[in-house]
Amino acid sequence: MNNISFADLNLAPEILRALTESGYTVPTPIQAQAIPLVLEGCDLMAGAQTGTGKTAAFALPMLQKLLPLATPSPSPARHPVRALILVPTRELAIQVEASVKAYAKHSHLRSLVVFGGVDIKTQTPHLRTGVEILVATPGRLLDHIEQKTVQLNQVQMLVLDEADRMLDMGFMPDLKRILALLPKQRQNLMFSATFSNEIKRLSEDFLVNPKLIEVARSNATAENVTQKVYLVGHAEKHALLAQLLRGSDAKQALVFTKTKLTASRIARQLHREGFAADAIHGDKTQLERMQALDAFKQGKITVLIATDVAARGLDIDQLPMVINYEIPSAAEDYVHRIGRTGRAGASGSAISLVAPEEEKYLFEIEKLIKCQIQRATPLPTRPVERAPQAEHHVRIRAPHTSVTKKPVHDAWFNKPYEPSASTRVVAPPPDLPSKPKSPLPALFMRRKVSPSDAED
Ligand code: AMP
Repeated sequence: MNNISFADLNLAPEILRALTESGYTVPTPIQAQAIPLVLEGCDLMAGAQTGTGKTAAFALPMLQKLLPLATPSPSPARHPVRALILVPTRELAIQVEASVKAYAKHSHLRSLVVFGGVDIKTQTPHLRTGVEILVATPGRLLDHIEQKTVQLNQVQMLVLDEADRMLDMGFMPDLKRILALLPKQRQNLMFSATFSNEIKRLSEDFLVNPKLIEVARSNATAENVTQKVYLVGHAEKHALLAQLLRGSDAKQALVFTKTKLTASRIARQLHREGFAADAIHGDKTQLERMQALDAFKQGKITVLIATDVAARGLDIDQLPMVINYEIPSAAEDYVHRIGRTGRAGASGSAISLVAPEEEKYLFEIEKLIKCQIQRATPLPTRPVERAPQAEHHVRIRAPHTSVTKKPVHDAWFNKPYEPSASTRVVAPPPDLPSKPKSPLPALFMRRKVSPSDAED
């Protein structure tokens, strides 16, 4: 399956050219499986984690199918919305649309992204010029529908991306309203990192005879991500985090917290300790979030602290390290978090700092991913340093600064990271109990509540 090329998938020369320019040489497994089925016109239920290339898996055949309708005409009437891609968050929306645009750059197909948190009036003129492919978060799309700034009566393809997350965030009522407004005759594609019973029910509701494809085992974590847990008290977490960051050979790390407050606090504290750190969460404006993300992507920031909602959909190439400062209470969020590393075949490391009161969540996570995560030996904590800034040399820092490693007490820090086979995902035993219901939906059930409002 993996020996095939993009050309074997019957994609048009203008798409192939864009792929070459994007640096893609061979299709990923999800692309190799999904593209022929979508081109055939099948509905699809695809189990694929972030980082598997799932965006191109639906976007490429979508563009291929829409190409005959592409026109250089400036008339908006010649550019109706023909494909709708619904995603749970703004960041993912921006990212998906950027990919679509890159793949469509040599065609006359137009794409646009609309999401909440910004003035709706800024989006309307762009919608009015006409776009074939619309990427939207559900709430903002409904706003546009209410304001009659978008027509969906010519939609022939619908994609629900990260469907599991959309359900977790309480978007079901919005989705139902949107689905009711679409033409009945259409192709539906659903992508989900996890296959819960709710996802199966949703797929039964809106897919017609779907083909089922799955590139990673359901609810599995990326196999090339090495996972470790440190059992540590809350009070020691910051010192351990700083030690891990200093001792790591990783160039960058994404650190997850449960709340906006903790994210900001850690960012401030790390900053004081000499790290190029910043936080992204729902209290930051869209612009601040984009700036922090850009700085991280460019390597100007080496430690990005994020809440789950803010981090959703982040596409950061070759991120070597994810640290869970606090583990999530919804086990599936763990899968999403560590999906930020080990992308596109690269190896990654996911480290979780688990306080005694968090251990119950750890057990739920292990039940979900069907493996026990290696417990690392707790590190000797160092006394809190009050030394002047200059003494705080860090391994992880912006590329333009000099890299000097501060000696640490434990020789462990000087050793290269050694992945442990025991942390790899093992084959799932049949019929393990499904995960307990996430506490998130109750928080998110209200329509028009920005997902990021509910982070704390
Ligand atoms: P996704 O899972 O869609 O978020 O994609 C993850 C990352 O893989 C993105 O940075 C894509 O640009 C990249 N990618 C997707 N398909 C390919 C491919 N066939 N070859 C190389 N990189 C890819």
